[in-house]
Amino acid sequence: MIWSLLKIVLFICVIAGLALGATQLMETGGGVLVSIANVEFTLGPLQLAVVAALLLLGLWIVLKLVSFIVALIRFLNGDETAISRYFDRNRERKGFDAMADGMMALASGEGKLAMAKAAKAEKYLHRPELTNLIAAQAAEMVGDKRKAEEVYKALLVDDRTRFVGVRGLMKQKLASGDTATALKLAEKAFSLKPKHAETQDILLQLQAGDHDWSGARKTLGAKLKFGTLPRDVHKRRDAVLALSEAREILHDGSTIEAREAAIEANRLSPDLIPAAVMAARSYIAAGNARYATRVIKKSWEVQPHPDLAAAFAEIEPNESARARLKRFATLTKQRADHPETKMLLAELNIAAEDFPAARRAIADLVESEPTSRSLTLMAAIERGAGADDAVVRGWLTRALTAPRGPQWICDKCHHIHADWVPVCVSCHSFDTLSWTSPPPGEMAMPSGTEMLPLIVGGPATEVVVQEPAPEPTEEAEAETRA
Ligand SMILES: [Zn+2]
Repeated sequence: MIWSLLKIVLFICVIAGLALGATQLMETGGGVLVSIANVEFTLGPLQLAVVAALLLLGLWIVLKLVSFIVALIRFLNGDETAISRYFDRNRERKGFDAMADGMMALASGEGKLAMAKAAKAEKYLHRPELTNLIAAQAAEMVGDKRKAEEVYKALLVDDRTRFVGVRGLMKQKLASGDTATALKLAEKAFSLKPKHAETQDILLQLQAGDHDWSGARKTLGAKLKFGTLPRDVHKRRDAVLALSEAREILHDGSTIEAREAAIEANRLSPDLIPAAVMAARSYIAAGNARYATRVIKKSWEVQPHPDLAAAFAEIEPNESARARLKRFATLTKQRADHPETKMLLAELNIAAEDFPAARRAIADLVESEPTSRSLTLMAAIERGAGADDAVVRGWLTRALTAPRGPQWICDKCHHIHADWVPVCVSCHSFDTLSWTSPPPGEMAMPSGTEMLPLIVGGPATEVVVQEPAPEPTEEAEAETRA
């Protein structure tokens, strides 16, 4: 304490002396006359500055010497570690200075400099758990993957830095596309730090990509437990995983288990359309028409969807068109204003050959929000009602350039999927598909071109198709259903 105070006082004295000297220099406007032991020197400004610098250096050496002598005296008085402590202190200071420089270099984006500083700090400090952290980031910054990997592996040795090492290696594997190793590392990282939200997300995504649905459900449970996921989102995602599990089981041929898993998925999230469809089909297979009806009805209430209608038709596969129209009233009474409901009603009426009723169902829809599907239905109605070929062609021509209507679209990358999948095929995000219309501009292309000769009764030569048709869609399903 006193020693520090003394240092400060000395420092102030030196500064004051310098300032005084400088003023003197200004006033004399030339040189300074110094007299030591009766010998006088005249110093010019430059010489004076050199002398001042030498004085400072001398002072610094004296201070160092004094602190060393103090350590020496302590040593002689029986404090055995005084001298080694003196040198340690010096080394430590140099090490931390180098580390601070390294961190500065990292922050200012100078990877190479940061690496050099980290190496210097390590030389003085011998604290790899600290210096390696800088070295790893610096290596990543300059793109030296080998060096970074080496450092991450070194970090694995220490308990305190193991997680950082595993995470670093995992990110490297992810970047290089080695998902199998990344998955193992993610599992390791998760076991080290189950509360780490980023690790949970990466692990979940890798497990879903690997079709490890039960593992993913466990990870999801951890996310809920550690509060990084709202309860309703958890429920929905759990349902998606349960459904994916059910599909896998069904694929392997175990229908009873798949049935249970599908019903479970539907219970967790009644609005998850593919789960409702699968659960309904499970009930149909078990001969339980009442439960199948209930499941679809509940899901239709939330989100009318053609797949639900298709599953609903399967409950009574052999009924007449009239009977079907009547039975479907359970669905069409709900959400009567929804475009999907209107189109369903039109389809059912077309099948029952009640064309005026079909027209009534979608007349306003084709005006307010025409889609290729509703316009194609309109063409079918005109055709059934015996209208001119020109009129039918008019509707079909409009259908070609109309928007496609809602589809399974990834919220994140807007990739359009023909069927629902738990993981986006384009950006590999989990549970990002929703049944919505593509943003304007992504004009849909004709799914109904192949139907032209059937409905019009001849090749539609005047229709110009601008783009190749993508995958087959609702119209085809509508056909099979109607
Ligand atoms: Zn996507």
